[in-house]
Amino acid sequence: MTTPQPKILLVEDEESLAIGLQFNLEAEGYRVVYARDGKEALAIFPTQPFDLIILDIMLPFYNGYYVAKEIRELSPQMPILMLTARTKVEDKVRGLEIGADDYMTKPFHLEELLARVRGMLRRKTWYRKSMDAQPSFSFGANSINFATLECSAGKNRFKLTPHEAMVMKYLIEKEDHIVSRKELLENVWNISSDIETRTVDNFIVRLRKYFEINPKKPVHIKSVRSVGYIFSSSPA
Ligand code: CA
Repeated sequence: MTTPQPKILLVEDEESLAIGLQFNLEAEGYRVVYARDGKEALAIFPTQPFDLIILDIMLPFYNGYYVAKEIRELSPQMPILMLTARTKVEDKVRGLEIGADDYMTKPFHLEELLARVRGMLRRKTWYRKSMDAQPSFSFGANSINFATLECSAGKNRFKLTPHEAMVMKYLIEKEDHIVSRKELLENVWNISSDIETRTVDNFIVRLRKYFEINPKKPVHIKSVRSVGYIFSSSPA
C-alpha cells in the first residue's frame, strides 16, 4: 500500500523550478525531499523509504540516467518520473527503456505533472496488490518473480524492467482475454500518443524474445490483429 502521505524524492538542479515543484507537491499532500544533484540523490535515497522519484536528466556529478540505473539496483520497482529539456524521441525511448516509468519534457504544465504523479502512485498500488496476491508466475519453461523482477526462461536468467514486469502482470491478470494497446497504455503507462503506441509494440517484441521459444511464432503472447495482445500460459 502507498503510505497515507506518499514521499517523493525530487532531484533537480534548477533551484527555482525545484522550489516551485516542492511547494506544489506539498500542497497536494505529498512529503518532498529535495536533492540538488545526482550525488546527493544517491546519498539520500537509501536512508529513507520513498514512494516515487522525480528525476531531472541533466544534473551535476551524475546524470539522471545513471541515477535511475543505481536506484533500480536498490529498488527494482521504484516509480521514476524523468524530467528533461531534451525533446528528441530517442531520448524519450531511452528513458523508458532504461526503466523510467514516465517522462516529461520541460517546460511542462504543473497540472500535467501532478496528474502523472497521481497515475504513477495509483499504478504502484495496483502492482503491489497484484504482486501480494500472486508474487510469482510460471508458464511453459518460464518463471517471473514479480518482487525482484528476476526471471528464468529455460536455462536463461535475466531481470525485467519495472515496465516490462507491469506489462506481463497486466497480461497475466487478463489471461485469455484480449488486451488492447490502448488499455495497456492507460493502465501501465497512463499516457497516449504515437510514440507510446510504438513503445508498447517494442515492449512486446522484447518480452517475446525473453519468453517465447520462437519469438516470431509466439504461443504465450499472441497478437490480435489491429486490436492488441492476448496472453495464454498453456497454449492449446
Ligand atoms: Ca538540469
